Amino acid sequence: KMLFYLVPVIILLLMVIYQLSIRLSQPLEELADYAHSIAGESKGSFKPKQNSWNYEAYELYHAIMTLEQQTREKERRLQQEAHYDALTGVLNRRALRAVMQNWIHNRYQFAVLMLDIDYFKKINDTYGHAMGDEMLRRVATIIEEQIESADLCFRYGGEEFAMLLFEADLVAALKTSEKIRHTAEQSPTPFGESVTVSLGVTMYYGDDQSMEELLEQADSALYDAKKTGRNRVIVHQEQTAISAGD
Ligand code: GH3
Ligand code: MG
Ligand code: MG
Repeated sequence: KMLFYLVPVIILLLMVIYQLSIRLSQPLEELADYAHSIAGESKGSFKPKQNSWNYEAYELYHAIMTLEQQTREKERRLQQEAHYDALTGVLNRRALRAVMQNWIHNRYQFAVLMLDIDYFKKINDTYGHAMGDEMLRRVATIIEEQIESADLCFRYGGEEFAMLLFEADLVAALKTSEKIRHTAEQSPTPFGESVTVSLGVTMYYGDDQSMEELLEQADSALYDAKKTGRNRVIVHQEQTAISAGD
């Protein structure tokens, strides 16, 4: 008789315990899945709901959300550091290679400008390294002010900058280069003497030229600009031949 009364009560109790354990464990399982999806960087993963009545799940929810936010922020900062130059704030050489490869892959027409500050060593030697750094930042600002919004400026090396002018032709590339050269020459400096720059220019017309070839061409034109007296813009000779034939 006792069994007759007890069995349904036990079954009911078991069902309640079962339901309760599911309600307790489900949010934790969801959070575990979510944590796995963050670690695996799977996009669009289902975000679990906050569960305020389940204290442990509630605490864990907040801990995971904070961790996710911090991880994303760190990731963004690392991305930034990987592609930008810390001193001048412009893109770096790694970014230049990535963009050039992409533009060549898509066969976009663009101009490559290579710029080098003239007698930069003298600025460092005469006015100190901090002044040298300041001039690097100023030249970067001048470049960014003179290029169009679709164009990009990169710090290529010590006192060398590269620019990619999106869908520019040779005439536009020369105009921009001249503007940069002229603005640098005219800009006042804290030490009174003007700082000049030399530029080498080459073009990519959506053909089979490689990134290395283009960089070499711009570099060799820049070398010619240095050799022939500095504070000037020189177009790579093959491009001069093309423009002369046009
Ligand atoms: P040229 O007209 O032929 O280009 O002469 P230059 O003196 O500009 O060229 P050189 O290559 O002899 O000197 C470049 C100098 O740039 C040497 C190096 O100490 C300096 N430099 C490189 N990176 C930095 C930097 O981040 N900050 C500072 N202040 N100087 C740098
Ligand atoms: Mg140099
Ligand atoms: Mg120099």
